[in-house]
Amino acid sequence: MQQPLLISSLLEHAERHHGDQQIVSRRVEGDLHRQSFAQLAQRARRLANALAACRVAGGSRVATLAWNGHRHLELYFAVSGSGAVLHTLNPRLHADQLAWIVEHAEDEVLCFDAGFLPLVEAIAPRVRTVRHYVVMTDRAHMPAATSIDGLLCYEDLLAAQDDRYVWPQLDENTASSLCYTSGTTGHPKGVLYSHRSTLLHTYAAALPDALNCSARDAILPVVPMFHVNAWGLPYIACMVGAKLVFPGPALDGASLHALIESEQVTLSAGVPTVWQGLLAHVEGRDLRFSSMRRTVVGGAACPPSMTRAFQQRHDVQVVHAWGMTELSPLGTVCSFKGRHDALDASQREALQARQGRAVFGIDMKIVGDDGAELPWDGRASGELLVRGPWVVSRYLNGDAGDPLVADEQGRRWFPTGDVATIDPDGYMQITDRAKDVIKSGGEWIGSIDIENIAMAHPDVVQAACIAVPHPKWDERPLLVVVRKPGARLTRDDMLAFFAGKIAKWWTPDDVVFVDAIPLGATGKVLKSRLRETYRGHRLPGA
Ligand code: ADP
Repeated sequence: MQQPLLISSLLEHAERHHGDQQIVSRRVEGDLHRQSFAQLAQRARRLANALAACRVAGGSRVATLAWNGHRHLELYFAVSGSGAVLHTLNPRLHADQLAWIVEHAEDEVLCFDAGFLPLVEAIAPRVRTVRHYVVMTDRAHMPAATSIDGLLCYEDLLAAQDDRYVWPQLDENTASSLCYTSGTTGHPKGVLYSHRSTLLHTYAAALPDALNCSARDAILPVVPMFHVNAWGLPYIACMVGAKLVFPGPALDGASLHALIESEQVTLSAGVPTVWQGLLAHVEGRDLRFSSMRRTVVGGAACPPSMTRAFQQRHDVQVVHAWGMTELSPLGTVCSFKGRHDALDASQREALQARQGRAVFGIDMKIVGDDGAELPWDGRASGELLVRGPWVVSRYLNGDAGDPLVADEQGRRWFPTGDVATIDPDGYMQITDRAKDVIKSGGEWIGSIDIENIAMAHPDVVQAACIAVPHPKWDERPLLVVVRKPGARLTRDDMLAFFAGKIAKWWTPDDVVFVDAIPLGATGKVLKSRLRETYRGHRLPGA
């Protein structure tokens, strides 16, 4: 049968086959809210009627500024399902940047958690496209005073509508959602996903050697729903019938651990910085995980020390994954092959430092400076290129021109800006982002390797390795370190720790200790900021 691949079909499937499965949300109102997939579907239909009443047409952009929760999920399905485009905004961005993005995307409706009212009030006078502002709460929790005219209440909008709504049979290539790259360089660029790309990504991401999700899972997406659709987990949960647990704004270790235990979460997903908080919390109190069996770590490299802590101390399997906004986001997952059963724990952990194998749908290769493909020998490193049905073909409005490059056969590839090796088994390892690479005497030094070693030191909480200008070698590595509270670690101790672990010339020239390392809007180390701060740093002997 010819049937379009539509996001609404995920919701219909979840309602019909897993109607009683639970969605648990810690809400900004402070309570722990529960609803079933059947209720989700019913409320999404009401919401679709409400959007129609607000004259949201096919292709119109509806923006959200919200934490992970059931109302955000309802918007995911009602907006895309009805043919409009869900635009998830990152509330950690500055108001100036958000205003720019809202205008650029031509958002017509902005739905937000009550806590973001001050941010929305700062944006509103600067944007002309938004016709309706909707607070994602009930009447009792509506803000008493605001500078925004005609503020709408989400629950009132739903209550005014019927729950009968027939999802339109759209063309599967219709745009469904929109995310902006975090814009660590230049203006952020919009990446538009389609119903088709989203469905294909969902199938692939749910596979056993990918995120391995089933109806027996309780999934906690710690990764925000505004960060590349929470890596696709809301769609995956509907496809497989898994319980969903949403943490709301409470992403600290104590709140996450309590939620994981009370809801018997089996699978979670997030960036390494979030897991650092969780591990610090459980280890300081000798707590355990009674149900969590796997955690997906991505968005930045997962240091082997973190893999070891999860697996050896807590029996939680780490699933290291790589992806990007331009890939919906999933590209590779580090899952074992049968022959790896013979490896011992430390060999398996070494393998898990890699970002893993391509999931079906993604093809990848590495190329040298001349664009020629490099061998898969685990040593040659070059820029990583990918292609596939959920890889970006161009940015919104054609910004930044044509991002793809063609090979001799005319096949088009997306250059990721990541530098990687691929081993003979197809396991890819990111050594750096092209813009973060340290070039010393014409040779590359992989900052991620250095950070992984530093973070294995028991006195180190976090480490970032950056390039600083050097008169002789052009650039040399500087290590920026956050020590554990009370630790006495010195510069010389830290440098001695590298002995025998990497080539001598890779060892950082200097170490600086700081209280905190700056993080970007998606929880990743802001290396550009660090490079600015330490541009004038005088390296010993330089
Ligand atoms: P941005 O590129 O704006 O930071 P993304 O969230 O799309 O936004 O980030 C994608 C980038 O994050 C990748 O290109 C890569 O550099 C990095 N990344 C993602 N996952 C990993 C990982 N497991 N290991 C190392 N780097 C990763």
